[in-house]
Amino acid sequence: MATSLSSRLRAELAGLRDQGLSIHPRVLDAANRARTRVDGRDVVNLASNNYLGFADHPEIKARAEQYLREWGAGAGAVRTIAGTLRIHEDFEEQLAAFKHTGSALVLGSGFTTNQGVLGTLLQPGDLVVSDELNHASIIDGLRLTKATKKIYKHADPEDLDRVLAENDADGLKLVVTDGVFSMDGDIAPLGRLIEVARKYGAVTYVDDAHGSGVLGADGRGTVHHFGFETAEDVIQVGTLSKAWGVVGGYAAGHPDLRELLINRARPYLFSTAHPPAVVGALSAALDLVQREPEFMARLWENTRYFKAELARLGFDTLGSQTPITPVLFGEAEAAFEASRRLFAEGVFAVGLGFPTVPRGQARIRNIVTAEHTRDDLDFALAAYARVGRALSVAQG
Ligand code: PMP
Repeated sequence: MATSLSSRLRAELAGLRDQGLSIHPRVLDAANRARTRVDGRDVVNLASNNYLGFADHPEIKARAEQYLREWGAGAGAVRTIAGTLRIHEDFEEQLAAFKHTGSALVLGSGFTTNQGVLGTLLQPGDLVVSDELNHASIIDGLRLTKATKKIYKHADPEDLDRVLAENDADGLKLVVTDGVFSMDGDIAPLGRLIEVARKYGAVTYVDDAHGSGVLGADGRGTVHHFGFETAEDVIQVGTLSKAWGVVGGYAAGHPDLRELLINRARPYLFSTAHPPAVVGALSAALDLVQREPEFMARLWENTRYFKAELARLGFDTLGSQTPITPVLFGEAEAAFEASRRLFAEGVFAVGLGFPTVPRGQARIRNIVTAEHTRDDLDFALAAYARVGRALSVAQG
């Protein structure tokens, strides 16, 4: 007899609960800001990806409202049928000019961008070599392709060299890396990775979800940070949901890449275009970051301060180089207990354990934003000091 739906659901959920992997997201009762309300408690928020504080910025919301009024609540169709509004095209030109690339194409999300671009670009006979810590959306994007897939050691150009030396291909060769890694906050050694890729005639593909709005002049991203933004053998993809505070994904590069994606990328061809309010908010976000360098300056000032104070308290931040600031607790239960205690003290920061991060490296991931005040950070640091002492984690 076939499995019933209820027995399938019960068995799956029981398995998750038994392994301690069951997820119960906390609920925000107010906008996602540096101070917000979560499950009825006022907290300092160290859990969001809202790097520049744009998610609830008045100027960004005003442009969203304007586009909503002028262009409607929804785009009405997929882009290739009747859903491409003038504002979609204008925003892509604005984004390409910002990125210093010949073109840009916006897709529904960062996740679907990886699926669309990798799924379109890679064919049988191609070789793709991917960093072992790349994001789940890259892994899923690669699953859609019939290219030969190989993994290189995290952020290790020498291991990339070894893999490329051992595996040849007649087709396209693609090296895939995150620009900034979401769990450790380290920056990919892009200059050296591109150098190795070029030695073997490979193209480099950078997912800059956590580098956009954070690295490079005016937040142009990791590729810009390393000076490769005009290179024709580098493809940039990323998300519009983190520093830009809204939602969406993009691919930026040669206009031929854009044209091929318009013709072939399934998340583009078969999913409705973004609502006008999203496009308005995004265009305002790009204007704002270029007009007011204070956002990035504050983001980095806060990042440096928070990391230095955590180190002074004796915490291990795992060598993070960006606003993503992990604090190591070791065993998963210790990280989850620390997260619960911090929450009780009014600090919202999420604990992460295996399989999201390696065993024995459970951590709390903090994300500093431009919106945090010195008071917010000091409040969080005082809570960390107490929780670290109570759990015997920090030596300070
Ligand atoms: N790539 C990376 C490296 C990410 O961290 C994320 C966000 N979790 C994504 C892609 C997906 O982006 P989005 O949330 O816009 O789908």
